[in-house]
Amino acid sequence: MSFFFVLLQTHFYAITVMIKKICFWVGVIGLFVSCQHFVNAQQALIEQNNEQDSTLTLLFFGDIMGHAPQYQAAYNSATQSYNYDVCFKYVKKYIDQADIAVANLEVPIAGTPYSGYPQFSSPDELLDALRNAGYDVLLTANNHVMDRGKNGLERTITQILQRRFWYAGSYFNKAQRDTIYPLIIEKKGVKVAILNYTYGTNEIAVRSPNIVNIIDTTQILKDILKADQLGASLKIMTIHWGIEYQLQANAQQRQLAQFLVNHGISAIIGSHPHVVQNAELMCNSSGDGIPVYYSLGNSISNQRKPHTDGGIMVKLVVNLKEKTDIKSSYIPVYVHKGVLDSIYQYHLIPTTDYLIGNMIPTLKRQEDLSALLFFDQETRKRLITNK
Ligand SMILES: [Zn+2]
Repeated sequence: MSFFFVLLQTHFYAITVMIKKICFWVGVIGLFVSCQHFVNAQQALIEQNNEQDSTLTLLFFGDIMGHAPQYQAAYNSATQSYNYDVCFKYVKKYIDQADIAVANLEVPIAGTPYSGYPQFSSPDELLDALRNAGYDVLLTANNHVMDRGKNGLERTITQILQRRFWYAGSYFNKAQRDTIYPLIIEKKGVKVAILNYTYGTNEIAVRSPNIVNIIDTTQILKDILKADQLGASLKIMTIHWGIEYQLQANAQQRQLAQFLVNHGISAIIGSHPHVVQNAELMCNSSGDGIPVYYSLGNSISNQRKPHTDGGIMVKLVVNLKEKTDIKSSYIPVYVHKGVLDSIYQYHLIPTTDYLIGNMIPTLKRQEDLSALLFFDQETRKRLITNK
């Protein structure tokens, strides 16, 4: 499958959503016209449900960052509380449509005092917003997990578990890791394993008994084997790697990706460079093309330079009858910082929805529109030209 096809799919996806909406309203009007139209609308709904029943959809987001201007924007001085809900308003429908939605939580939820770069701690309300938006899984193996030391690592896990997320990446101790890693999620009768590792923790030591999953091929092979023993038929590798701001994956990433593909990984989803990197289909020993997205870029952050002001959502659609049949596609999401719908915030804007005028208010500033267009076009170009 070429990435040209992926591009078509991306457009097709947006258009499909639009067509479904149109079909829905035509169905509603039909109710008032004749019984036959009602029957047709019901039939369409059944067909749609059948399609959903025969596939499993996973959706992946990039880095959830927590720079100081972000929590300042989320603060309401009248109520003296934080709220990030509006940030995710325009991506919520994609999350709702997915069976499993995953994001890289790159900030400790370490309590007060809150802090931005370089050693983060974000308000608990960030997690509330992710929950309200519908995310299911958070990843914590990244270079900022130790920013606030042992307390930051442990408090983050506690807050995640209190909100009933699934998660992977960092652990109180070996007993906890042995119990819940690899993360296995069973949906529609399929067991999906989610693996998560980071290249390092910014040279802040992880002290025993705490554990952070570090990239170590010997350990990774053990974990893959354990996922197999637990009956996982899909093994998704989420991995924090690469060099910041490089638009193309480097040799080490490609080499490690091939190693993972050779050892039975079903898809690779990368993070850390804060820009969207190229992607490819990598052949495994059975001749299957395994989707490798080297970096999804920023899901939400205060970074405003070209290429850093957005990310991609990656969608994997798994055919439940033939689980090696995985179709991947992506949706560029621009992070708008400013006023939208009378609210000043960081707004995640799926660019296709914006460009086809799908329910997103008009950007007021020309420079924001230019930045959105630049991000959209450059991201697509990079993903198309690398097969
Ligand atoms: Zn990182």
